[in-house]
Amino acid sequence: MSTAGSEYRLDGIYKQRQPGFYMQRVKLPAGVISANQARTVAAVSSHFGHGAVHLTSRGSMEIHWLKEEVLPQVKCELAKSGLSSRGACGGAVRGITCSSQSSLGFPAIESLARRLHRHFTGNPRFERLPKKFKIGIEADVVGGRHLIQDVGLVLASLDDGRASYDIWIAGGLGREPRAGFLLAERVPEERIIPIIEAIIAVYATNAPPPKRLKFLASEFGEVKLRHLIEAEATFCESVPEFTGLPDCLVTPSQGHQRLEIPVFAGKLASDQLLHIADASDRFADGTLMVTADQDIALQLSPGVDAAEVLETVRNKTALAFADAIKTLRVCPGSHECQMGLSATREIAALVTDIVTEHAKGLQWAVSGCSNSCTQPQLAEVGIITTRLKTDAEGLKSPRFDVYRRLQPGLGQREHEGLTLEELTTLLGKIT
Ligand code: SF4
Repeated sequence: MSTAGSEYRLDGIYKQRQPGFYMQRVKLPAGVISANQARTVAAVSSHFGHGAVHLTSRGSMEIHWLKEEVLPQVKCELAKSGLSSRGACGGAVRGITCSSQSSLGFPAIESLARRLHRHFTGNPRFERLPKKFKIGIEADVVGGRHLIQDVGLVLASLDDGRASYDIWIAGGLGREPRAGFLLAERVPEERIIPIIEAIIAVYATNAPPPKRLKFLASEFGEVKLRHLIEAEATFCESVPEFTGLPDCLVTPSQGHQRLEIPVFAGKLASDQLLHIADASDRFADGTLMVTADQDIALQLSPGVDAAEVLETVRNKTALAFADAIKTLRVCPGSHECQMGLSATREIAALVTDIVTEHAKGLQWAVSGCSNSCTQPQLAEVGIITTRLKTDAEGLKSPRFDVYRRLQPGLGQREHEGLTLEELTTLLGKIT
């Protein structure tokens, strides 16, 4: 990778598979963005890109189809509205994620996500790491997302606004999935940042590029990795207790209803995003949440009729809600991503067309390569494109592995190397 390429990555930019075009990712702490900021993202996409925004399973937004010469202006426009992309790609602390946006503890989680985002974003001490460093904060362990982070924080207690967290580390997906392990329990919030600093110091010192923290867990074993982290100077430190006003944008949820707006494959047109931002100002609290399932959620104002808002949004955006699969995470695949081995949105459309009514209620995920960006091992049915097979005429066609998650932990591979035809047959039988 060229130096320019790695510097672009630190600014949250990847080259697209189409030569001359780039993708800009925008970090949203815990997936939350204000309606005004969403308008900025929509305007940047319309003005500089092709007028589409991709919602990621880590609660970020991505703008594709940007020419190299507009990248500085894009960064400037995002910064004017308080948005940052620094460290959204490359060897840095990535966007802080949360899939528990509907939990009662979410205001505390969002506040911590914003503090971690401020602390680790743009600080050169936490950049140029061997590879990405992912942090997620969850209200519970049900979805298993704490298991796939470099640092997964799980809310353990919340008394009088004081929170403590269990800390899970060294998880990750990709070609060699590994579930994280429990490093420490009921850690008060004041110790979270120093402990993460200790983990990053051990990671940066010991892991060769392009390995993740999970590599050290495999190489050293959990006991040695734990000892190395505990020996770091910052491990026992605390930062002063935070005493300011809450950092959350989302209104604490007492008396509020959450409305989820399904977005097929996480792909929104700019004008659809604008209409949803307007609906948030009118019916909700002026914020939008990008969910871990690539949809948009609003925290409605008390007394607002959710069905009426959904109908208003549907009329304005023409988003198709009918027949939607409840949860269907889809990465850009070979539509835009350099790594993509299959046309993931077409696979997703196939899933929608073919599966039984019962199977539409399952959680689905489709990934265009083994990087597993849509977390297929955490879906009830996960489809991963693993390779391209070349036939006698030189034509290449994708092969798919299928994972099922029927119990806590990571899902297990049940089918390997399926052709599209074999996958299609299988999809119709899944219950
Ligand atoms: S899973 Fe692979 S193809 Fe899909 S977005 Fe991630 S890197 Fe690209």
